[in-house]
Amino acid sequence: MDRLMDIPSSAELKRVVVVGGGFAGLNFCKRLKDERFQIVLLDKTNHHNFQPLLYQVATAGVEPSSISFPFRSLFAGRKNFHIRMCEVLETDAETQEVKTSIGRLHYDYLVIATGCDTNYFGNKALEENTMALKTTAEALYNRNHILESFERAVDTDDTQEREKLLTFVVVGGGATGVELAGALAEMRRFVLRKDYPDLDVDKMRIILVDGKDRLLFSFKPKSSREAEDYLRYRGVELKQKTRVLGYENEVLRLSNEEIPTANVFWTA
Ligand SMILES: Cc1cc2nc3c(=O)[nH]c(=O)nc-3n(C[C@H](O)[C@H](O)[C@H](O)COP(=O)(O)OP(=O)(O)OC[C@H]3O[C@@H](n4cnc5c(N)ncnc54)[C@H](O)[C@@H]3O)c2cc1C
Repeated sequence: MDRLMDIPSSAELKRVVVVGGGFAGLNFCKRLKDERFQIVLLDKTNHHNFQPLLYQVATAGVEPSSISFPFRSLFAGRKNFHIRMCEVLETDAETQEVKTSIGRLHYDYLVIATGCDTNYFGNKALEENTMALKTTAEALYNRNHILESFERAVDTDDTQEREKLLTFVVVGGGATGVELAGALAEMRRFVLRKDYPDLDVDKMRIILVDGKDRLLFSFKPKSSREAEDYLRYRGVELKQKTRVLGYENEVLRLSNEEIPTANVFWTA
């Protein structure tokens, strides 16, 4: 798009364009309160996403509105502060311009705070068939998928199909995977038992797969042990030193076995 973005410009103010209103971009904008600068915050969405509680949205523990904070409310009343919802497609350091889905914009200073994306290590099938957990939209998709699996499991008289629907596999034993597996175990204990009396709760399997020999590898070994003990106590099956090779036709292929499942979460 070749249009220039409609942002007021002034010779006295240097323009700082901030791409991304996650933790980094948001804190940068909050702290840069200086009359010499105009700030333009560009983000694909119009709100900040509090990622640490996404797993709670995915497992129906909290509502999306509790972890989404509109930029326009956060920065209401700030002078020389502009917000545009758009995707930044390119930056050009020579012309000092960003190219976005709604037009070009000149900058004096550019802050790129676009975060990171889920890594599927190049495996397209995993990207297409598993559930990620980085945005509110993905958390809501996961929530619907989990509840739909319960509904379908209640209704089927095919034992194998029911087992597949009630098998939940989380791939990745970092903080997100551990939290998600724990929240699924809580869901089995509190939600499933109460809301789905026709289902045999004990048939719901929660499996956490990880390539390393201990969960929470970047934490101290004591924390790993405590997390492992707690998850086992809550009935989560741990498959460690195990790699995922693929997921097709609702069968998850691991380095040492295959698991039929309709629900695979990718937090690697
Ligand atoms: C499920 C989950 C749980 C977590 N739990 C914790 C925790 O308990 N404690 C902890 O310390 N950390 C936690 N983290 C990590 C933490 O959330 C991240 O480290 C942090 O969000 C990174 O901040 P960021 O600003 O770099 O990126 P992000 O928060 O990812 O923000 C990037 C922003 O850039 C925007 N953006 C990206 N590309 C473009 C583009 N091309 N154009 C316009 N906008 C763009 C996005 O829309 C987004 O708003 C968790 C992460 C996840 C996913």
